[in-house]
Amino acid sequence: MHSEREWRCEECGKLMGILKGDRLHIRFARSHEYRVSLPAAGICRGCHRLNELREQHASACSDGKLRN
Ligand SMILES: [Zn+2]
Repeated sequence: MHSEREWRCEECGKLMGILKGDRLHIRFARSHEYRVSLPAAGICRGCHRLNELREQHASACSDGKLRN
């Protein structure tokens, strides 16, 4: 069984989706569901920050992206 991991907004911590194995599972309010492969990007519905989720290798800490 694949382990599941939460993908949360880097800014406000809102749940963006659930990572199952190498697929990202995204669910919206009215029973819309998507399963996508990485890398994925999405805009947080809370703070509108663009979040990116990449392959899981070194995802424990963020890579050398520029931050404001
Ligand atoms: Zn957010």
